[in-house]
Amino acid sequence: MSIVTSEPVPRKGIMDIAAYVPGKEHAPGVAKVYKLSSNETPLGPSPAAIEAFKQAAEKLEIYPDGQAVALREAIATAYGLNAANIMCGNGSDELLGLLCHVYLGDGDEAIITEHGFLVYKIQIKGAGATPVEVKEKDCTVDVDAILAAVTDKTKLVFIANPGNPTGTYVPVSEIRRLHAGLPKNVILVLDAAYAEYVRKNDYEAGLELVSSNKNVVMCRTFSKVYGLAALRVGWMYAPAGILDALNRVRGPFNMNSGAIAAGAAAVRDQAFVDKAVEYNLLWQDKLTHAFTALGLKVTPSVTNFLLVHFPDVDGKRAPEADEFLTSRGYILRAVKGYGFPNALRMTIGPEEANRGVIEALGEFMTR
Ligand SMILES: *Cc1c(COP(=O)(O)O)cnc(C)c1O
Repeated sequence: MSIVTSEPVPRKGIMDIAAYVPGKEHAPGVAKVYKLSSNETPLGPSPAAIEAFKQAAEKLEIYPDGQAVALREAIATAYGLNAANIMCGNGSDELLGLLCHVYLGDGDEAIITEHGFLVYKIQIKGAGATPVEVKEKDCTVDVDAILAAVTDKTKLVFIANPGNPTGTYVPVSEIRRLHAGLPKNVILVLDAAYAEYVRKNDYEAGLELVSSNKNVVMCRTFSKVYGLAALRVGWMYAPAGILDALNRVRGPFNMNSGAIAAGAAAVRDQAFVDKAVEYNLLWQDKLTHAFTALGLKVTPSVTNFLLVHFPDVDGKRAPEADEFLTSRGYILRAVKGYGFPNALRMTIGPEEANRGVIEALGEFMTR
């Protein structure tokens, strides 16, 4: 017999979850606002993706393809993969949630890292399991710390590679060492949301590890370099056994037809991606140098955002900088919730915004 309560009560743990707070969008009273708080691309999506989305608007009465075949095949072709090992999701957020829903339950543990993406913790708790947070080293995922935290209750290990909000990465040799040290029943989740931006010889998103193991998955997104954040398009490359389990729970029409069509067109336009990456590398370098010259510390980034650390001096700390920049229309991301109370994360924006932030921070540091 269950106990009758005076109102509906959520499952244990749900009310302990701190809801995700998206990046700010508004600066009250400022005419021109640049949103540099959510790692969206300043270049928009490929024109081919916009055209495909418009065409999808002609058939809104028809259910989408529940298998998202056109999108999975386009991704498979672009990345040289087997379409049968790809699952698409309503943003990679949905896929991260499905993994927790299917593989975690009461009493289970999932490992996350000190500065890891907040969505992991939310989904782990949402599944009734316990997030086990391990330290990072120099704002970088620490493989030994993760391996030391594994217990017989561990079911999932989440790492963002590259990391958000750190912008740092772990070389593939370290990811292999991590996987080799995990029990075979533990799934290693490699969240490679920023993989396209990385130009480092010792980086790999994890395709090879997924192909040759039964307990590794890689999540990717169209929200960043592909410029389709509004449509919610994510994908996962995973072994057949894991996909079989997830497919039993996945919403039968989790991808809408506009997202399928636009995603497929976007992934075929790799020339557009190359241009976006080139633009990003240029400004990653320029902004890092400019901020460093102002006396700020920038964590070396391989992504489309920078983690900028402020001096521990009255009037010069991150909250004051945030306020100053917002008053000039530059909206960055406060990252206190990620363990960085004295830093801001800046998404690399359009040229005029990048120049504007350099100028404003110059003023802030000398005022
Ligand atoms: C932006 C981001 C994602 C992408 O999420 P979507 O749901 O696909 O928009 C995933 N992981 C990390 C670490 C991110 O920063």
